[in-house]
Amino acid sequence: MPSTITLQGFLFDEKSSFLRGAAKAPPEIRAAYHSSSANYFSENGLDVHPGIFEDKGDFKINQYFDIEDITASNLNGKNKIISLGGDHSISYPVIKAVHQRSGPIEILHIDAHGDLYDSFDGDPYSHACPFARVMEDNLASRLVQIGVRTLNTHQREQADKFGVEIIEMKDFKPESIPSFTKPLYLSVDIDSLDPAFAPGVSHQEPGGFTTRELLHIIQSIQGPIIGADIVEYNPDRDLNKMTAMVCAKIFREILSKMATPD
Ligand code: MN
Ligand code: MN
Repeated sequence: MPSTITLQGFLFDEKSSFLRGAAKAPPEIRAAYHSSSANYFSENGLDVHPGIFEDKGDFKINQYFDIEDITASNLNGKNKIISLGGDHSISYPVIKAVHQRSGPIEILHIDAHGDLYDSFDGDPYSHACPFARVMEDNLASRLVQIGVRTLNTHQREQADKFGVEIIEMKDFKPESIPSFTKPLYLSVDIDSLDPAFAPGVSHQEPGGFTTRELLHIIQSIQGPIIGADIVEYNPDRDLNKMTAMVCAKIFREILSKMATPD
């Protein structure tokens, strides 16, 4: 049976507000996934080897909204897609293309940050803004955020305005994650993890998830995942490529969810 899962990478960090470097992430995550120090199995025993997805490769981006067209093109004939960032700004154009293909979706967004700014440093497409744009365009019937631990007054107002369901890190319990009823898009910002577990990010925000907690969250998701991204890994800030290995592990667990029949 031909694969229905597509993989794409974006060599893009121009919308990063603090540090560049995330554009270097996709090849590093691929190398960690292929590393002979590990294997291709997910923890539930599924062989998530490279034959189960179609790898479209990594893309250099000239214009921000090219990301939407590239995603639409890569989705052609497929129904599930995983994107490797790049900074978190890629999620908005990717989700636009996924919504165009699949219709109403729900989003689980895992991040230290809400990424709900109306505009940041004068740019409405900054990596601090993608989920404000998603909600303005009605691309998701539900947005649930977990891991968040940096909300300011503006972002709380934005969350209220858009009806975002935020389970802040300080209040988090695994059982507080709702179950989803529509096809799910999963957006994983690696800075949701505590920097002790994933130092290779531009915004190291203490007090985050352990790797085990994040794996448990992904493994506990019920229902079909149709799209996912892993963003904000910054190889310049990594130590001994340990964060790349975390990204590869998360990638395998998401693949396992996507490869399991709905
Ligand atoms: Mn983010
Ligand atoms: Mn973040």
